[in-house]
Amino acid sequence: MGFLTRWLESLDYDYKILPHCSRYKSPHSTCTECIDHCPKEAIQLQNGKPVIHTADCIDCGKCVASCPVQAVEGFLPKRSIIHKQYIIDSYNTPTLKELLVYYKKGITTIICPEKYRNAAWEEMLEQVNQLLIKLGEEPFTVSEEQLPFPHHESMTRRELLFTWERELKQFAKKMTPAKWRFNHESLDVAKHYPDYQFVYIYLDKSKCTLCKACQMLCPKSCLQINETNFTLVAQRCSNCLLCQDICPEHAISLKKMISPATTEKQPIYTKECSCCENPYQTTNEIQQLCVACQKKQQFSSSIIEQSIDFMKEGSSWQI
Ligand code: SF4
Ligand code: SF4
Ligand code: SF4
Repeated sequence: MGFLTRWLESLDYDYKILPHCSRYKSPHSTCTECIDHCPKEAIQLQNGKPVIHTADCIDCGKCVASCPVQAVEGFLPKRSIIHKQYIIDSYNTPTLKELLVYYKKGITTIICPEKYRNAAWEEMLEQVNQLLIKLGEEPFTVSEEQLPFPHHESMTRRELLFTWERELKQFAKKMTPAKWRFNHESLDVAKHYPDYQFVYIYLDKSKCTLCKACQMLCPKSCLQINETNFTLVAQRCSNCLLCQDICPEHAISLKKMISPATTEKQPIYTKECSCCENPYQTTNEIQQLCVACQKKQQFSSSIIEQSIDFMKEGSSWQI
């Protein structure tokens, strides 16, 4: 490969953190996915935001694949695909997310020579196959050597001519390994499995104050609040944790699990506050106070508790 080609290719690998990174959107974000997956500790937090130190980066693309909101811009390393068989040809083996996307692109066989196998790769393969079974798919076929191309036992003349024509068109591709590359935008796994959700979003109706912070920050529009309902569309959720991190009432929690895609609608009630008599909205069927009166009540109770504690401490000193 010439110097110019190598230089042009290296431009692809200029990984960059995009402004829609969860940590750029909120200082409450706890996401560390890109940092945790970098094998060279080339990503570090500066003022709470991830920064890539290019001198330490080895262009493995693990950060690109791990980001739940596709906020690490860049291309993944080239992968060799021959006749729908994914040939592992380096120690930089693909990530779980990548394999799930390849599977949906029709690549169901992985050729992995002995020298590239190791415990981490085997474990990841086991994990991806378990996920595929939960997603109602057949697991990957794994082999050490390239499998022969399928051929038909008997065909009509028309079928034969059609097959020759098609195979001629693909001849070049078969002779030379096709180099597949994904960029960050290709790795939204949920888009490739529309019948399933990968996360369960739990809303604690007794805590939510309908402040809409989660709705405003969710990058996948999973949380929608209108006059009558709080709708949770978990199918689109990428488990970025932002809603859980920023909810001031700790009313949202997330659990990684695969299940058929469902849209949940929680009713929103319009009521009159029993204290200030102003109208207000809530997801809590039994709550009788508006948010402002609830906060006032909580504040008064905490002052009373503190006074009691103070008096108890005072009396123990007298003893
Ligand atoms: S994984 Fe993505 S969202 Fe999380 S800190 Fe890194 S760039 Fe930001
Ligand atoms: S779940 Fe939390 S962030 Fe979302 S509207 Fe309710 S209180 Fe606000
Ligand atoms: S629902 Fe929460 S975890 Fe899922 S994508 Fe939206 S903000 Fe991220």
